[in-house]
Amino acid sequence: MISNRALTEFRSLWQRLDPVNDPADTQDRLLELVPAIVNRWGEVAASVSADWYSDARPGRSPVLAESLADEFVSKRVRFGAQRLWSGEPDRTFAFTRGLIDEYVLNAGRHTIADAAERDGFGWSRVLGGPNEGQFCLGLAGPAGPESRIFRPHCSCVVVPG
Ligand SMILES: [Zn+2]
Repeated sequence: MISNRALTEFRSLWQRLDPVNDPADTQDRLLELVPAIVNRWGEVAASVSADWYSDARPGRSPVLAESLADEFVSKRVRFGAQRLWSGEPDRTFAFTRGLIDEYVLNAGRHTIADAAERDGFGWSRVLGGPNEGQFCLGLAGPAGPESRIFRPHCSCVVVPG
């Protein structure tokens, strides 16, 4: 799964940092590198999703979801990095993993949702597995106003129709 590859890259980045002794440097490195990880793997997710959509709906060619602005991702990274100064680097790590997972997969989900809307098929949110929480259970099925919200580590997928 593409998000796992992004998370593996993030883990190896994290292992080169020293969050306990140098929170400032850790935050700087996260701000420098996490937006790049999100967008590089997001492009892969969007591209794979577009190929999948073209197979599912022959003759249609989706536009890839736009990359997130670095400033937007940085703001989230900075929020999570606050925990570095309260001696809770594990929480910064978990928070950052969550946002990478969410945004990478969203690039794929939104590529399919945008295309399905544009092509007039509509789309549905399908639960990715038995472990989805109440939030996802409540949004499963044909797309509604809040259907584009996916939480970290959610495995829901978007399908046309
Ligand atoms: Zn879900």
